[in-house]
Amino acid sequence: EQVPALLARHSGDSIERLPVRSADSYKNQFGHVMVVGGDHGYGGAALMASESAARAGAGLVSLASRPEHVAAALTRCPEVMARPVVSGQELEPLLAAPDVIAVGPGLGQSPWSEQLLARAGRAEAKLVLDADALNILAGGRVLAGVKRDDWVLTPHVGEAARLLGVSNAEVTADRVAAARAIQQKFSGVVVLKGTGTLIAHSGGVELINSGNPGMASGGMGDLLTGVIAALIGQGMALPAAARLAVWLHGEAGNRAAQNGQRGLLATDLLPHIRALVD
Ligand code: AMP
Ligand code: MG
Repeated sequence: EQVPALLARHSGDSIERLPVRSADSYKNQFGHVMVVGGDHGYGGAALMASESAARAGAGLVSLASRPEHVAAALTRCPEVMARPVVSGQELEPLLAAPDVIAVGPGLGQSPWSEQLLARAGRAEAKLVLDADALNILAGGRVLAGVKRDDWVLTPHVGEAARLLGVSNAEVTADRVAAARAIQQKFSGVVVLKGTGTLIAHSGGVELINSGNPGMASGGMGDLLTGVIAALIGQGMALPAAARLAVWLHGEAGNRAAQNGQRGLLATDLLPHIRALVD
């Protein structure tokens, strides 16, 4: 792939890190992240995003999901406050608490999914939109015409193509232009994922190379969403949070793949995310 010279490139060394925690820290300083997702049959994605937010240092993490996922979520990670929601109306009162809301992992595209995105999209909190939240957004019936400076959109190629109304081939032919076009259309920060992830914001487009083909498996993107949300919750500006999250997610993938890339599971990255975020 040809990378234009004006594109900023980052290695791990050049990326800003989270500050050391002071001795008298308390959890409210590190952000409350809420993950919204997990429609029927897709609970795992939402669980993984919430656990990765917790492992990336969020002060508090909650999860709003279909009722049938709550027991599994509490068993897997009791630190996450798992809340059953059957409608947008039930989500509404929960939306005042979080500083950052990550919508999309396992969200699906049902009426339930659309209601949740519509409500979360009007919340005061900063937003990270991923996966089916992006597909619903692309459909144009929810959050139509909305631009926000305080959201991060994390499409892979297919989701990027839907957001722009073009083919996957058109996105891959010029990923820099695609990332820029999505940023212009929706504002905020765009993380165009792939082999070499692009981050587009009002100041330009940046390239971060990290990760490996072992990460081409289900759940990897859900972890990244959780990490971005956690770093925003800990006070990083959106572009910096995206930059550090993308780099450390890939680096966690590299460390976790030391014994092989095939069969690498998204959850294998969690201990490495924890080590790298320190
Ligand atoms: P998703 O497609 O939403 O599950 O996201 C997959 C995540 O894994 C993204 O952060 C990708 O950048 C990363 N990933 C997938 N395949 C590769 C690869 N071949 N090289 C580097 N990163 C990858
Ligand atoms: Mg994904």
